[in-house]
Amino acid sequence: MKQSADLKVFISSRDSTCDECGENLGRSAWITLVEDKGALCLSCADLEHLVFLPSGNAALTRRAKKHSILSAVVLRWSKARKRYERQGLLVEEQGLAQAEQECLADSDARERRRERESARREELDREYVDQFAQRIRALFPGCPPGREVVIAEHACLKYSGRVGRSAAAKNLDEEVIRLAIMAHIRHAETNYDRLLARGYNRRDARAEVEADVYKTLARWEISAS
Ligand SMILES: [Zn+2]
Repeated sequence: MKQSADLKVFISSRDSTCDECGENLGRSAWITLVEDKGALCLSCADLEHLVFLPSGNAALTRRAKKHSILSAVVLRWSKARKRYERQGLLVEEQGLAQAEQECLADSDARERRRERESARREELDREYVDQFAQRIRALFPGCPPGREVVIAEHACLKYSGRVGRSAAAKNLDEEVIRLAIMAHIRHAETNYDRLLARGYNRRDARAEVEADVYKTLARWEISAS
């Protein structure tokens, strides 16, 4: 088992396409590189739930990394200097929140948090999120209260960043809902992120947690009452 070198995310400098889902990601897309596959979008790489923390605050960065099971270094190629330069870290939302708690003495942290949250809210299409959440609730009545909103917001951010929502995503097809829920369960209810952080490749990590994902999915499909 490969010991965990930091995962790396590259901000591309040309037009790129994800080799897994085939989506055109446009210019300066955020991608990961996989040995036998080429470029992957963050969604396919299962890193999309992470939030970006720009470089600049060493204490916050160190703590956010410590409190995140999964994190990735974000790099951009500098033409002038002919080398990759670190832009910041992708970390877990809750890891960042905890780090900010610890840095509260530093009042900047609070200000930055407010800015990040409002930027994120602006990006969300509230109506789509509500509809998405309602569909989740209808199809998966056993889903823990409140989770449907978390899942719907992630899905909304994902599709809003793309060239356009696919028809399936627009119509909230059952398959789109199911994939969003499975991705959430993988991250939130299984060991998956821990395995990625340890250096497992995605295929092995997915195989390892697959049974757990389906078990939870089946539980959520049944009404709690
Ligand atoms: Zn993709």
